[in-house]
Amino acid sequence: MNIEPPELPDVVIRDLRRSLRGALLLPDDPAYARTRRVWNAAIDRRPAAIAACADAEDVAHALRVTADHGLPVTVRGGGHNVAGRAVADGVLMIDLAGLRGVTVNPAAAVASVQGGALWHDVDVATARQGLATTGGLVSSTGVGGFTLGGGTGWLMRRYGLAIDNLLATNVVLADGRLVRCDADEHADLFWGLRGGAGGFGVVTTFEFRLHPLRQVLAGVLIRPATEAAEAIRVFRDFTAGAPDEFCGMLVLAHAPPLPFLDAAWHGCPVVITAVCWAGDVATGERAIEPLRRFGRPLADHIGPMPYLQWQHLQDGGAPLGRCQYWKTASYAALTDGLIAKLADAATSLPTPQSELHLQHLGGEVSRRPPEETSFAQRQTAFFVNLIGVTPWSDEMPVLRERSRALYRELASGTLPRLLPNFTSGDDGDPAVVAEDAVTTRLAALRRRYDPGARFGLR
Ligand SMILES: Cc1cc2nc3c(=O)[nH]c(=O)nc-3n(C[C@H](O)[C@H](O)[C@H](O)COP(=O)(O)OP(=O)(O)OC[C@H]3O[C@@H](n4cnc5c(N)ncnc54)[C@H](O)[C@@H]3O)c2cc1C
Repeated sequence: MNIEPPELPDVVIRDLRRSLRGALLLPDDPAYARTRRVWNAAIDRRPAAIAACADAEDVAHALRVTADHGLPVTVRGGGHNVAGRAVADGVLMIDLAGLRGVTVNPAAAVASVQGGALWHDVDVATARQGLATTGGLVSSTGVGGFTLGGGTGWLMRRYGLAIDNLLATNVVLADGRLVRCDADEHADLFWGLRGGAGGFGVVTTFEFRLHPLRQVLAGVLIRPATEAAEAIRVFRDFTAGAPDEFCGMLVLAHAPPLPFLDAAWHGCPVVITAVCWAGDVATGERAIEPLRRFGRPLADHIGPMPYLQWQHLQDGGAPLGRCQYWKTASYAALTDGLIAKLADAATSLPTPQSELHLQHLGGEVSRRPPEETSFAQRQTAFFVNLIGVTPWSDEMPVLRERSRALYRELASGTLPRLLPNFTSGDDGDPAVVAEDAVTTRLAALRRRYDPGARFGLR
């Protein structure tokens, strides 16, 4: 069914167009149809209009006009949020795709990143200087939403989460005021922006600390699903004492058609151990040996490569335009009982396209003082993301039902807080899922910076 969005009153259209340097996209504009779509094809919402902003002043103008007319807004960064928080019916969407600039100051080891940039933009610009910072595993993920939710990535155990490298931001507030915020100026807002999942304003610039890094030791080990329980146990034991240079992920999936995997295994249930060692390669080769030396790997494809290359190698597995339903769970420890359930999941994924990801935190993430940011997950040892996928929208009810059933199996012994970046629409507001001091402080901050709750439709 094709439901038309409510029309914006002429006066609002005129006011918005008065000084917008970008474009105001209305539903009859072909660019509107493209821009309202987000990465998750299951999200099908129609904003009243889209302000395709060209700069921070455009963002401020759009917020001032919508404030005058009491119109709610959403913000589109990279559009990757699986719950579709960048888009809602009947609102003004502020699209930041025109703000993707990245400036690197190599002497200061700082990158200034515009609010609509993708991780591809940042990784390419910083790699030119032999520098890097913690970014997403898939290069088309937006820096904006990713960072506001904490930002986990291959470098986090060595250099911290994305928010731990965030030095300052420029933010347009709900009333259109542009403020700089860091540890000294608007320090309370800066705290909320680092892990609170947004909803305070539009970040037009992020400034990140960078680290020298050109090369990593990285790649995958692939085993049949029959070795899943052992692979998870080895991963658990290995990560308990792993150096900060190491970051790994276990993926239960049907094997993709990788050129280095025997074609007889393509499409069969497998367990994939993905590793990244951000340090000396020879030391890394010795360190990861325990992950290699058990069972009978079908493929061992690990070697030195540019960090920039590794940052793009996952892209093929996360194409735009498939219907997604995700569930996430966090654990303080992996018990043998949970490992058995996870291993069983290797052969009972909701659809052949679905995957289950097991990741660990620790390292620098767990050493940062919890009160420094609003990211309330620092003591999580492991988290699981159930990535439910179907190419067909009419299979969504089945996908949801099967994903929830599998999730219930895995849900005992979980921590109360979910990683905001991976929550789905039915998990509610990702920042306020637990009754604790962080929730109370975030809610107060939202009331202060967005008194009209105009960013509230999330
Ligand atoms: C394929 C894939 C891989 C992923 N990998 C990782 C990963 O490795 N680690 C991780 O932590 N997460 C990961 N994620 C989750 C991702 O970080 C979140 O979905 C995040 O919300 C995406 O940000 P975005 O800007 O692309 O999304 P959007 O959908 O555009 O926005 C998400 C939310 O952030 C707000 N927002 C975005 N930009 C701004 C801004 N500049 N100012 C104010 N608000 C803004 C939006 O309003 C919305 O509420 C992944 C997601 C996908 C789909």
